[in-house]
Amino acid sequence: MSTRAERVRCFYCGDPVAPGRVEQDHFPIPASCGGTQTVAACIQCHDLKDRTSWETLPVEFKGAFMEQFASMEREAKIVFAQFMRVAMQAKALAESKTSAIGLRVGDRFTDEKGTWEIVAQFSAGDYRARRLRDDEEAD
Ligand SMILES: [Zn+2]
Repeated sequence: MSTRAERVRCFYCGDPVAPGRVEQDHFPIPASCGGTQTVAACIQCHDLKDRTSWETLPVEFKGAFMEQFASMEREAKIVFAQFMRVAMQAKALAESKTSAIGLRVGDRFTDEKGTWEIVAQFSAGDYRARRLRDDEEAD
């Protein structure tokens, strides 16, 4: 039995990860969304994936993705486009602080964070709202 064969490899970079240094990364569904499946990851890759924002992800990662995108198969491109649509819709929904309850621009609603006014409507159930200051609420 070889210890080398037992060495776990990082799902993302493929490098061997020392025992005791292996992180369990929730993939493909994040733990915050109920995912229970995990892959082994090194701390550097896990940090880049989960502890780095899209805005601070190194630009060479985005460039590498765009270079590889051109040579992806049709199916992979469509799956990626679907992921992007779902992610952007979720982002817009989270930012809007509303759900599909029939609000219109100018309508106000209150939740645990305060009173909000709908300022834009992109499509049915897809709104953007701004939080009102306390002195704006009483009218
Ligand atoms: Zn790695």
